[in-house]
Amino acid sequence: MRLFVGLDLPWPLRERIALLAGGIPGARWVPPENYHITLRFIGEVAAHQAEEIDHVLAALRARRFMLTLGGVGTFSRAGRETSLWLGVERSQQLDLLQSKVETALQRAGLEPERRRFAPHVTLARLDNAAPAKLAAFVQANNLFRADPVPVEHFTLFSSRLGKEASAYTAEVEYHLAAPAAAG
Ligand code: ATP
Ligand code: MG
Repeated sequence: MRLFVGLDLPWPLRERIALLAGGIPGARWVPPENYHITLRFIGEVAAHQAEEIDHVLAALRARRFMLTLGGVGTFSRAGRETSLWLGVERSQQLDLLQSKVETALQRAGLEPERRRFAPHVTLARLDNAAPAKLAAFVQANNLFRADPVPVEHFTLFSSRLGKEASAYTAEVEYHLAAPAAAG
């Protein structure tokens, strides 16, 4: 199965994000049920390795934190813009969770992730997007900032690649501990 570790988003936030979609002819917008933040892409693994991955993720200890989405940008490959995304405000807690996931997965036998962590929510694939409209979208929405939301779990997703959009299934949710009491 094809796996990745990520954060899902609460529905009111998904609905808020979905209001941004539109206005770029040729863009393939991600359906709101697919919005997520990838913490670590795993890829194809055998069933026994999936079990080992679940085992190490279940043993991971981390705390809840607040997450804020804001800003938009694009990823490019070979000089062409390939995807449009909503940014994630970096926080120590997010980075800490991501590094704990990475450490856990290496303990489960995965090769280290070489790519730098670049948290984002993919809004659209851009294969054939009109460049001027895309630029206007980025400019118009760059100041977008969502209300902070609590992150109370992270998720092991499986992904089935499809023609229109991939179908993600939340296989396991791993709960995060309450924040340490102040004082
Ligand atoms: P599609 O591939 O059909 O466009 P998708 O990218 O949403 O759909 P997956 O390829 O299964 O579905 O990827 C799941 C998640 O992992 C997505 O957030 C994707 O951006 C991310 N991802 C996929 N491949 C990699 C990779 N090689 N390195 C890092 N992240 C990846
Ligand atoms: Mg993909």
